[in-house]
Amino acid sequence: MFRCPNCGLKASGDYCQWCHYPILRGVPKRGRKSKKQEAAEARERAQREAVEAKEAEVVPPTRVITSKAANRLERH
Ligand SMILES: [Zn+2]
Repeated sequence: MFRCPNCGLKASGDYCQWCHYPILRGVPKRGRKSKKQEAAEARERAQREAVEAKEAEVVPPTRVITSKAANRLERH
């Protein structure tokens, strides 16, 4: 059992079952990430996702499916 540092309720497991705050066992309180750090990581993650979305646009999987479907239609 832990006391959730976020909502203060008793929680067990890796996440608080009340507010889903991740309980990091063995990590001192001052080792917690700062809001600034979290914001920077979130921004980084969003940028990476945007790049991945752009890469996905270059080879759209729907196009492959539709061309295959078109071939199948032509055969029939
Ligand atoms: Zn909590």
